[in-house]
Formats: sequence, structure tokens, C-alpha cells
Amino acid sequence: MTTWDNIIGHEWAVDVLRSALRYDRVGHAYLITGPEQIGKTTLARTFAQALNCTAAGPEERPCGVCRACTLIAAEKHPDVRLVTGESSGRGKVTLKIDQIRELNQALNLTATEARYKIAIIEQFDSANPSAANAFLKTLEEPPQNVILVLTATDAETLLPTIPSRCRTIALRPVPARDIQEALETRWFVALEQAILLAHLADGRIGWAIENAEDGTALAEREEQLDLLTESFGQTRVGRFAIADKLAKTPEKLPALLKIWLSWWRDLTLLSVGQKDEGSLTYIDRKNELYGLAEQFPAGSAVASLQHTEQSLLYLKSNANTRLVLENLLLGYPTLID
Ligand SMILES: [Zn+2]
Repeated sequence: MTTWDNIIGHEWAVDVLRSALRYDRVGHAYLITGPEQIGKTTLARTFAQALNCTAAGPEERPCGVCRACTLIAAEKHPDVRLVTGESSGRGKVTLKIDQIRELNQALNLTATEARYKIAIIEQFDSANPSAANAFLKTLEEPPQNVILVLTATDAETLLPTIPSRCRTIALRPVPARDIQEALETRWFVALEQAILLAHLADGRIGWAIENAEDGTALAEREEQLDLLTESFGQTRVGRFAIADKLAKTPEKLPALLKIWLSWWRDLTLLSVGQKDEGSLTYIDRKNELYGLAEQFPAGSAVASLQHTEQSLLYLKSNANTRLVLENLLLGYPTLID
């Protein structure tokens, strides 16, 4: 048992890194790509543990309990640095040139206690061009015993010189069944909840774990879906009131509309006769979905799907929030005769 076992759904990537360690063929730079919360940093951190673990045999590394392993897990190891971009307002994170310069300097000092000096640089796609350029030389000729691990959503958004100097490990979304099994067996989440989270996670194991521990996101999602389904029984006045209420928290609207979008996607699938429940997002509300699919006129689900998508774009382009919502809600089908 090593901490490699904590990696869910990326067994092939673990195999690649383990065999590099086993045969002493570790590269000096890695680029781990994949969507948010899919486990990129967890993989990088586990690799750092394996590189510096003090357990006797390479097959026992990372043991998870030695000084090196525990310090790395706690992000307190003097020779393992985690570099994350700094907030540059509006929720945007940027990796700045000062951070890269500081990192370059630190990497030039010899390791204080470990075999390797390691830098894990998160979201390298958030580096501004000058920061990325300042890192090229380090990436080309890193000091001895330095291992660099970059993470990014997509290698294609980086300067081409970056991935060309790294070994790329492209992580893919974790299959829903793997997420479900991990939630049940490792986090002791009840079956029904595990199925639901695995469906909603969209392959993001980190999201599923976070939401298994903190139920807020799920509770909020329920409220947002209730609001949508209530609107079907509302007159124009009632729908205006819902729009009015929602317009008061504009920062929550993109997430809310994405939740509604998944609802309409589910209904569209059912209305075209898709019978595979495994493809539904809101499997926990399938009875309601089946009912609505029968009551709504043909074509209304797909029209609502498109209308919701369009409204998301309008909001992004700073259109009048209340007007967009009113227009959207009035366009949704009704259950009133
Ligand atoms: Zn260890």
C-alpha cells in the first residue's frame, strides 16, 4: 500500500510515473494536463512524494508516513514548492513574472534535505507571456536534481516551446463508475448520494470529493432546480417575480443557468426517446423528468435548451440581467392550460 493508491481513475498515468522511477528514467520536466479538479495536482504531489520518500525499496514509495511524505502532503517540505498564480481580480488567477523569478532563484539552491528539489507549478496556462518566457531557460536546462511538474487545462493553450520540453501526461475525465466506487469505498458515501455525485461530477473526482464532504452545493442545486420547475406552473406575473428575485444575485447566474441547461439537456434526451438512464445528469429526479417529457409539447425541450444557452451568452456580454431572465422564463413551456 502506497499513496499511489489514492489516485482515482488515472491508473495508466501512475504506471508511467512508477516505471520511470523503477527504471531510474525520471524526466526533468512533466506537464500534466486535464480539466479542473480532475486530480492533476494530487498526481503531481504523489509523484513528488515518491521521488523524495525515504522508505527502503522503490516499490514501497511513497509510503505516506515518513517525514518527507508527510511534509509534502502538508505542503511544508523545504525542497518541494507548490506555485499557484495570484489572484488578479474577478476570480482570475495569473502566474506572474515575479513568482517565476523567485522560483528560478530557489531552484538554483541545492536541496536542503531531499534527493530532489521539486517545483509543482499549477495552471501554467495562467502564466502571462513574460512569466512563461522567464521560465523557458529553467525548463530547458534545469539545475541538477531538479524536477519540474507543470499542470494546465490544455497543452494547446501554452507556448509550443513549453510542452515540447516536457513529458506530457494528459489526464482524462474519470469515469462515473470509478468516482462512484471511490466515494462509496473510501469516503463512505451512501450509495444513492455516490451515484448522484458521480453523475454530476462530469469526470472531476476532486469536485465529487469536495461536494461529498460539503453538501452546500447539492442543496443549492436542489433549490435552483425547484425554482425552474415551479416556474412551469406560474403565470407571467409569477415568472416575472422569479426573474426579479434571481436578478438580485447576478454573480450566481452563470452557475444557475448551467444547472438549468443540464436539466433541459436531460429533457431533450428523453423527448427524443433516449432510454439510457445512465446518460441523465439528474438521475435523482428522473420521475419528474419523465413526467415533464410527456407533458411538454414536442420540440419545447430543445428550444428551451437553445434559449438557455443563448441567455448565458447574453449575460456574458453584459446584457440587462433582468430582461434576459424575464425573456428566458417567459419562453419556457407552461403546465397551465
Ligand atoms: Zn515516505
